Amino acid sequence: MSKRKYDEIENSKTNDIDKNTKIIKVLKNNISLMSEDIALYLRKVRENQKEIEMIQNLLYEICEHNWERDYTIMSEHSEYICKKCNCYR
Ligand SMILES: [Zn+2]
Repeated sequence: MSKRKYDEIENSKTNDIDKNTKIIKVLKNNISLMSEDIALYLRKVRENQKEIEMIQNLLYEICEHNWERDYTIMSEHSEYICKKCNCYR
């Protein structure tokens, strides 16, 4: 094999390794960015759940409820829902 041909093959191998290293770096970075997004979304979900709970408590306190049996819930215990505020008791 000519020296030139040998160099070409060696260079293409090196290029493949470089390319692969770059792809791995990009993919790892993508995972890292998406993981950060997930953490942000999870925090937002928890914040919203807390806020919903606070609002429901407030609703429960200020509403002059009009309780009605809720037949959509399949439970041994009867559930009542307020027709005005949608709170349960
Ligand atoms: Zn109510």
